[in-house]
Amino acid sequence: MKPRVLVFTCLATVAAGGVTVGNARASVPGAIGGRATATDTTVLALRHATVIDGTGAPPVPGRTVLIRDGKIAAVYATGSRPLPAGARTEDLSGRWLIPGLIDAHVHLTGAAPDMEGYRKLLGWALGNGITSVRDMAGDDRILAYLSRQAATGDIVSPRISYAALMAGPTFFAEDGRAQAASAGDVLGQAPYMRQITGATDLSLAVAAAKGTGATALKLYANLPVSLVRGLTAEAHRQGLLVWTHATIFPAGPMDAVRAGADAISHSAYLAWAAADRIPRDYAARARADYLHIAPDDPRILAVLDSMKARGTILDATLWVFAHEAAEDPGSVGPGLVDWESAVTREAHARGVLVDAGTDDLGSPDDTVPNLHREMAYLVEHAGFTPLEAIVAATRVSAMAIGQSATRGTITPGQRADLVVLSADPTADIHNTRRVVRVFQEGRAHER
Ligand SMILES: [Zn+2]
Repeated sequence: MKPRVLVFTCLATVAAGGVTVGNARASVPGAIGGRATATDTTVLALRHATVIDGTGAPPVPGRTVLIRDGKIAAVYATGSRPLPAGARTEDLSGRWLIPGLIDAHVHLTGAAPDMEGYRKLLGWALGNGITSVRDMAGDDRILAYLSRQAATGDIVSPRISYAALMAGPTFFAEDGRAQAASAGDVLGQAPYMRQITGATDLSLAVAAAKGTGATALKLYANLPVSLVRGLTAEAHRQGLLVWTHATIFPAGPMDAVRAGADAISHSAYLAWAAADRIPRDYAARARADYLHIAPDDPRILAVLDSMKARGTILDATLWVFAHEAAEDPGSVGPGLVDWESAVTREAHARGVLVDAGTDDLGSPDDTVPNLHREMAYLVEHAGFTPLEAIVAATRVSAMAIGQSATRGTITPGQRADLVVLSADPTADIHNTRRVVRVFQEGRAHER
């Protein structure tokens, strides 16, 4: 049995990925040794690749992707232009090139800091194609450090964006994960694990959250509509994104969307939009009446249509609930697994942006990071084509972290975050696991 370690996942009982790493080595032999410099300044031409650019366009064979100063300088038919003088070339005949994958929902930090564990986990994730992650609540003291180390190249790691969590006071009294993540700070007063009431100075609370280096607020639990609105407006005013649970108890899905949340997490929590009453306590979150609430109930469709109109991203996290239900059937409400797939299929069909997040990056002891499983799950259970699942894990996940201008597609001007695959992922989504090498801002990492 793997030990189960307390990790700040939205499903309280998911086994740890970030801290129980066993003896597995980071699978990036040949990767940069020691400290890296910022970017590779030489020009590199990846030739004869079949490019899947992450925009949703079909694969195009025979392309050259030109990389300069860590960015994509040009994409064109191989042989149609002369190569720049001094350019290094790599022949990617028989290979597929996709944008770097972005897991839009992870929790890297656990109860106790484990730097060696983080290094192994992050190096393994990068070697398996994940070039960025969005951490959705944890210990921002550690996340700030890891994020900086990843950005400077001091560790081999996906780039890390993270959130500052805010919730109502009852959450902090109840939740052992929040207590562990903010150990050493006054419970509920850490700027990244902050209790909010009607008496809180929202402007100061948001400013302190921003000071942690967080990209966004994560509105987690036990907040009324008025505070969801107030925090969202103030966060946007100060340049932070707002990520929320799909239901914040008692604030519901439509409340979060109308308040202006940029992304909402967990398709399963959308069911509360059609519940007669939303409890005040988030402990009920995975226990909606899935057997009787129709995924296409008009109240839920109204939420989806509002999300579509506003561009609110749905962070579906399907796989983790299915996995948890299989491991421990009593841990989620009856019918949740089929329901979350059905509502995500509906959302996708109606044009809602859906990203790819796992709530559990994985463990280096495992064969692949769970993001590959989430992508396959979207295809096998929620009506996505393989191409659409790739878009979810690249372009849309980049939008979720507010970086779509610089990451998420293979287009000129973007950072050269690229994954080379040995088989066609549009023929079989499981081929995203066949990673040959990974480029992060133009720097190569061998698998
Ligand atoms: Zn989570």
